[in-house]
Amino acid sequence: KLNIFWHRRDLRIEDNAGLYKALRGDLPVQPLFIFDENILSQLEDKRDARITFIHNEITRLSKEYESHGSSLMVRYGNPVDILKELLSEFSIENVYTNRDYEPYAKERDSEVYELLNASNVHFIGAKDHVIFDKDEVVKGDGSPYLVFSPYASKWRQKLNDFYTSSYPTEKYLGNLHRSTPTQIPSLSDLGFEKSELEFPSREFPKKIIRTYDETRDYPGKDGTSRLSVHLRFGTISIRKLLQTALSSNQTFVNELIWRDFYQMILFHYPECPTKAIKPQYDNIEWESSEEHFERWCKGQTGYPLVDAGMRELNSTGYMHNRVRMVVASFLTKHLLLDWRLGERYFAEKLLDYDLASNVGGWQWASGSGCDAAPYFRIFNPTSQLEKFDPDLKYVKRWVPEYGTSSYAKPMVDHKQARERALERYKSGLNN
Ligand code: FAD
Repeated sequence: KLNIFWHRRDLRIEDNAGLYKALRGDLPVQPLFIFDENILSQLEDKRDARITFIHNEITRLSKEYESHGSSLMVRYGNPVDILKELLSEFSIENVYTNRDYEPYAKERDSEVYELLNASNVHFIGAKDHVIFDKDEVVKGDGSPYLVFSPYASKWRQKLNDFYTSSYPTEKYLGNLHRSTPTQIPSLSDLGFEKSELEFPSREFPKKIIRTYDETRDYPGKDGTSRLSVHLRFGTISIRKLLQTALSSNQTFVNELIWRDFYQMILFHYPECPTKAIKPQYDNIEWESSEEHFERWCKGQTGYPLVDAGMRELNSTGYMHNRVRMVVASFLTKHLLLDWRLGERYFAEKLLDYDLASNVGGWQWASGSGCDAAPYFRIFNPTSQLEKFDPDLKYVKRWVPEYGTSSYAKPMVDHKQARERALERYKSGLNN
């Protein structure tokens, strides 16, 4: 008899809540990872860097399990079918996992629950990805917060050692199932090719975190942690990162609260990936220019900060947060294109793409989501450049032709575009 621990967006052994729960049970634990064919088949780019990233991390994780006398079972297919196969191959008592709050994951997990339940196998979830989930931080009347500041105060009030402590999985690794190593499907078995992108390190950049409040807004500086991809795939622990943040920089803690906040919003508003959180914003009449959208995607708008950001995204799978705000505002306000188009483009390109944070960021930028500021606060891409890239370090890196005659002319005039956006938003919201 066995217990299974199913890794999903938690690709580590250290301080893993669900794995800890499993290891504390009475039966040996067999770790499992499934390359989900439903997700992989939707990716168009066969060089998608996220698959190379996951493949590297699975290889590392598998070696780690081997060093503890166990192995990671790695399969490829539809998770429900794979679990069905495992039920017939092994005598399984419980399947442990960490909760995932995305709509697709919730649907998949409820199918898995049905399957396991029919065979009297328990499906046991743990909270690992965030500090607080579901209804843990809500208003007094039980309804969710739509504004960040009161949510953040409540989050901080509720925080204590219990929530920040790590789970000492290392003490219980003797309870892993002694199994022999199995083959990991290669990237080409999965239908992908290796990406040559360089991935950020898993080490916490303690120095950057310490001075984060001073450096985080400048895309030309090495001033943010670059840990987003690791938080996305759980190759680092949010609790360990929070412990470091709490003792070094409160502004950084705040960013980790934003992450929890958007996960909470997605949980309470599962339709937010396609519907405005403030429903009246779905009355805004968007433009439909493919040409404008393409110029934005390629970084050829004639606004250097916007163009630098889009080119950074296209070549590295990353964009600095300040610039994400500027390009998102430019698309939804200056070009009056639907935020959903931008959200989908980011979803294809971002290494750290995360449904909750991305939809949250896009709805924030378009005004339809969780922003305390009114829609008529429109970023000026030129003054943002002067303020946050004053020496043009960032722009020159990504837009080398800036300042020469070959650089594109601004595709829209800031003042006119601003007025048009105000008009259009106003009439949509009064509808
Ligand atoms: P740091 O500045 O070092 O912050 C540390 C961590 O805090 C990040 O790794 C991230 O996990 C979290 N964080 C920081 N800012 C935010 C935020 N505003 N919302 C939620 N979490 C935050 N982040 C993603 O992880 N995935 C996305 O798909 C994503 N899409 C975005 C789309 C838009 C339009 C905007 C405006 C922001 C988006 N963000 C997204 C948030 C933010 O831009 C990135 O998390 C950050 O730039 C990642 O770089 P970093 O790891 O160096 O962050």
